[in-house]
Amino acid sequence: MGARSGVVVVGAGPAGLALANVLRDKGISCVVIEEQTRAFIEARPRAGFIEEWAVRALDERGLASGLLDKAPSQGRFEFRFENGRHPFSYEQWAGQRHFVYPQQLLVTDLVGRYADTGGAIEFGVRDVVLHDVDSTAPAVTFTAADGTAKRLDCDFVAGCDGAQGVSRHHLDGNLLTHDYGIGWLALLAQAPPSADGVLFGIHARGFAAHMARTDTVTRFYLQCPPGDSEDNWPHERVWSELHQRLGVPDGPLIEGELIEKRVLDMHNYVVEPMARGRLFLAGESAHLVAPIAAKGLNLALHDAFHLAEAIEAHYGGDDGPLTRYSDTCLARVWQYQEFSQWLSDIFHSSTLDPPADPFRARLAQARLRRLLGSPAAAASFSEIYIGKAADF
Ligand SMILES: Cc1cc2nc3c(=O)[nH]c(=O)nc-3n(C[C@H](O)[C@H](O)[C@H](O)COP(=O)(O)OP(=O)(O)OC[C@H]3O[C@@H](n4cnc5c(N)ncnc54)[C@H](O)[C@@H]3O)c2cc1C
Repeated sequence: MGARSGVVVVGAGPAGLALANVLRDKGISCVVIEEQTRAFIEARPRAGFIEEWAVRALDERGLASGLLDKAPSQGRFEFRFENGRHPFSYEQWAGQRHFVYPQQLLVTDLVGRYADTGGAIEFGVRDVVLHDVDSTAPAVTFTAADGTAKRLDCDFVAGCDGAQGVSRHHLDGNLLTHDYGIGWLALLAQAPPSADGVLFGIHARGFAAHMARTDTVTRFYLQCPPGDSEDNWPHERVWSELHQRLGVPDGPLIEGELIEKRVLDMHNYVVEPMARGRLFLAGESAHLVAPIAAKGLNLALHDAFHLAEAIEAHYGGDDGPLTRYSDTCLARVWQYQEFSQWLSDIFHSSTLDPPADPFRARLAQARLRRLLGSPAAAASFSEIYIGKAADF
């Protein structure tokens, strides 16, 4: 079975759905194919912190109504170390905030706006193969949910299929990788937030973090060995470690049932360039940033908006934005990768007792003192933490 569309978008995550909505609004035909069911992607919890510039960009494209109605915003966080609280207001320095909106709610909004108003999308596809991406007439073949073999001929393929997808393997020769050598146990607890902002616990037992998701659900992280098993972290051990690493006398943690428990090995990659012929990668297919600084979803949206504009310019007769697409996106990607590494050093260098590298631990402590003591350092940190200035 054959059909032709302007753009085939592979993957209905934040990158693919933001791109598809904008393309359709611009009158550019597109089809989205997604290997999971709609119910699955609407329930998959991941990110929660969306930077203000990204929310504004969604809003300018008519994609933020649910978010703006429901999401609270935060402009401060707290470091916790040596049994004390060290608040930090990045809004004070950068004038911008995060919006706290679980990723599955954003995906639900975006898929609803696209699919429920006639946007072409196929869920539950298998055997996705990209063809002829070096030509001006690429195609995508796949097996539809009902078992039918399908082929979509198109002008462009947008590879928005994340870290486990097929698109990035067309550019594997250009994969740059980095491994932090640590793991994070990612947890969701059925418990209200214990504080009105993010908590970063720097502790000799290992790093820990607390991040609100909703009034009744909170995300926590615990540093653990890479490759650790979730089975090593029963309820009692999780809460004991969280209390030790994050609790302070005047800021106790509220416990709850653990509804997600997943070990993430902290590693990054960047596919460079993010394009080959008529295949353009967007989001996590092109770059994975460990969730240390909560940047991945924000980068996915950044790519999607630039790719939509570049494809629109192509149909208007200007291929300049498409030619520059990869460089434009990678500028921010590398700023965020560098920032995540910088923050990781603060979070993890002092966290073994004694530290694995005492010299590096002292450097991290000096960095933290400078951040908390120097207005210039605080302003510089805040700009990149909230993504206000990141396109260098
Ligand atoms: C625990 C955790 C917490 C996080 N917290 C934050 C945060 O607070 N802020 C932040 O900015 N980021 C955060 N992130 C990162 C963020 O979740 C990702 O960066 C984001 O999901 C990337 O979006 P994407 O659209 O590029 O990819 P994905 O969301 O991975 O979407 C890709 C889609 O493609 C589909 N797919 C895969 N293969 C195929 C195929 N062959 N054919 C068709 N479809 C396919 C997948 O099913 C998926 O739906 C977090 C991540 C994790 C794991």
